[in-house]
Amino acid sequence: MKADYHMHSTISDGRLTPREVVMRAAKNRVECLALTDHDDLSSWSEAWATANECGIRLITGVEISTTWHGKTIHILGYGFRALDATLKSRLDQMRSTRAMRSVRIAEKLSALGFPYALEGAQAIAGRIEPISRTHFARWMINQGYCRNFAQAMNQYLADGQPASVDHDWVSVPTAVQWIREAGGHAFIAHPLRYKMPQPSLTLAQLIDEFTDSGGVGMEVVYNQLGPNETAHIADIAWHRGLVASRGSDFHSDGEGADIGAIADLPKKLMSIEKLLELS
Ligand code: AMP
Ligand code: MN
Ligand code: MN
Ligand code: MN
Repeated sequence: MKADYHMHSTISDGRLTPREVVMRAAKNRVECLALTDHDDLSSWSEAWATANECGIRLITGVEISTTWHGKTIHILGYGFRALDATLKSRLDQMRSTRAMRSVRIAEKLSALGFPYALEGAQAIAGRIEPISRTHFARWMINQGYCRNFAQAMNQYLADGQPASVDHDWVSVPTAVQWIREAGGHAFIAHPLRYKMPQPSLTLAQLIDEFTDSGGVGMEVVYNQLGPNETAHIADIAWHRGLVASRGSDFHSDGEGADIGAIADLPKKLMSIEKLLELS
């Protein structure tokens, strides 16, 4: 089954509306889908209506920002109750802290010689908030300050870079608990993307804390992983008994992989499809 369980719409930092995302997935012949906007469930109604129209199977999804030893870690949630009021209000509250962070990021960019960044990012997002580092990166490219997305992130906006702002999202166990209390399953997103915050901290320790709090899975196949890295992550998932998921992390044309354009999961692993009884 062609499936993709990680992508974004205009609700967070993608460039297509929820409807356009699902239509594009249908065009790419994806049969099963999760839209995983950052810290936000509000793409659901529109995505669900479009998925019904297109005959695509849609499961609930979200990508929750967490802070682990000062580092941003993304936790994916799947299969929770779409209209869970508690999860929604927890995320609403958490998202509201973005506004202050945006101001501070813009202040840092201004000090680096890039003034009016917040106004620029807001114009790109087409709203006042929520604003993501992705919007700041797109603005820097449009202004000619950076050549591409990777440069904007790696040189200025990624954790630890001069325009990044330390932010206390929720803890990893809290995000896992929120997802579980809404009836869902928690997965670690893109596990090899994190530069560990201290040499003494490892992915193994993150997985310990994650599974101790009830997390069950990990993204094993995603954009930018070579076959060796996928094999490495698959080994870890196998040894730790983690369920495997896969996702393009699609945001827009020209920014990474297209929807559905990712490899199959290694056969030996328990898959998200099995867990959610999708196939
Ligand atoms: P935010 O949610 O505002 O912290 O923005 C994080 C988003 O920036 C991620 O979801 C990605 O879409 C994008 N991004 C791309 N590369 C990086 C990177 N190296 N570090 C952080 N964010 C990145
Ligand atoms: Mn993103
Ligand atoms: Mn992510
Ligand atoms: Mn993502």
